[in-house]
Amino acid sequence: MRDKLLELEELARQLEPLPLQRDEVRQHVINYSENFLDNIESVKAYETSAGKGEGLLDSPISEEGIGIDAAIELIRTNVDTPGLNPASGGHLGYIPGGGIYYSALGDYLADVFNRYAGVFYASPGAVRMENMLIRWMCDLVGYPAEAGGNLTTSGSLANMIAVVTARDGRNIKSADVPRSVIYLSRQTHHSIDKGIRVAGLCECVIRYIDLDERFRMQPRDLAQKIESDKAAGLNPFLVVASAGTTDVGAIDPLTEIGAIAKESGCWYHIDAAYGGFFILTDEGKEKLRGLELADSLIIDPHKGLFLPYGLGVVLVKNVGDLARSYSFNANYMQDAFTAQDEVSPAEISPELTKHFRGLRLWLPLKLHGVAPFRACLEEKLLLAKYFYAEVKKLGFESDLEPELSVVTFRYVPSSGDADEFNKRLMNKIIEDGRVFVSSTKLNGKFTMRFACLSFRTHLKMVDMLLEKLANEAA
Ligand SMILES: *Cc1c(COP(=O)(O)O)cnc(C)c1O
Repeated sequence: MRDKLLELEELARQLEPLPLQRDEVRQHVINYSENFLDNIESVKAYETSAGKGEGLLDSPISEEGIGIDAAIELIRTNVDTPGLNPASGGHLGYIPGGGIYYSALGDYLADVFNRYAGVFYASPGAVRMENMLIRWMCDLVGYPAEAGGNLTTSGSLANMIAVVTARDGRNIKSADVPRSVIYLSRQTHHSIDKGIRVAGLCECVIRYIDLDERFRMQPRDLAQKIESDKAAGLNPFLVVASAGTTDVGAIDPLTEIGAIAKESGCWYHIDAAYGGFFILTDEGKEKLRGLELADSLIIDPHKGLFLPYGLGVVLVKNVGDLARSYSFNANYMQDAFTAQDEVSPAEISPELTKHFRGLRLWLPLKLHGVAPFRACLEEKLLLAKYFYAEVKKLGFESDLEPELSVVTFRYVPSSGDADEFNKRLMNKIIEDGRVFVSSTKLNGKFTMRFACLSFRTHLKMVDMLLEKLANEAA
């Protein structure tokens, strides 16, 4: 047995590269990523011509490893070239991505030392760091001391966690589902719909509240629908508002909706995945008034704080509500949950073992301070205003003054089908690839979207888009 063990050990030890091997691989990775960053301004935001990553399949997972050169080449050609480049400041479609560098280094450290961030007992420092970040965000949105939350992988998961928490917070059992009512709008993000299905609530009555001309929920219609549902013997229990819809960046009237939700006993959830961090700016703070009224809300650092993908946040006004849905008991964990001074993520979230996500947020916040984030968000709001004014000067139609950093616009040609014209125009922009915009349908019309949230988007990029639009439309 000892001989066999020693034999296995020899091969197993390859999993711990020697310092020289670490150095070699790390140098390749650093060179590659440095080159990527040095050229980020000239790399396309969208690459249509580079295949679809099929080359990866020519190199299957196998018993023998390959060299770092070969691995990087596979990544370069198959992963890092085709499709959308969210790291580019030319990404002005959907909701743009980020990728601030110090987050990558935070991830690197978190992965190297692999602290167990699920349980205070296992890593008091890691848990304290995550709780401190959650506290920081609770303070930002005006939540009280008893609030809490989770660092999740994404806004979608955060919404799902909130929907489940709302369900349990209003004690909706399966027998109650058919007579329980959820209030959304047609602008509500589809991850709420997913959350509703995952939470076993898809047989609830779903009411879509009328929108005003700026695609905001109309509080009066909400109040009327709740009232008539109550009169009909139904059980209104959940209202979902958006603080920055993905489509047009509309902010529902948060304060009025909050008052109606409270009055009717409904759980109030606000989806601020896209818009939430604008609260760091003076203008955003004004516009997001009422966020603090929510029983739960979500906010996405991988959108509004420009982090690389993989960080969403759900905040709940009373952390006890999260514990009701997610606390657990396991005999094998008996040592972990005695006398703690901090709540552990595992007790108030669906996860147990998890990535130490806090470090990818903490490190950039500490190294940069908050000021550059605030400036960058203010810049995005102003760029949207600038684009809105300039695109109209070019003869484009744009009816909605931007509330945050999304502008919708279309060109109406003197003859011919306007939808077709705008589709062609958008495809021209995408084919060129230096800037990327996406589209939506507003009141049945094909409409282009300018969504400004990349920390790398500055005036020059917006001017380039305006110039392309002017040339192509002509
Ligand atoms: C992006 C977005 C989501 C989903 O968040 P992911 O992080 O993409 O899962 C939810 N709601 C709104 C309003 C969003 O913009």
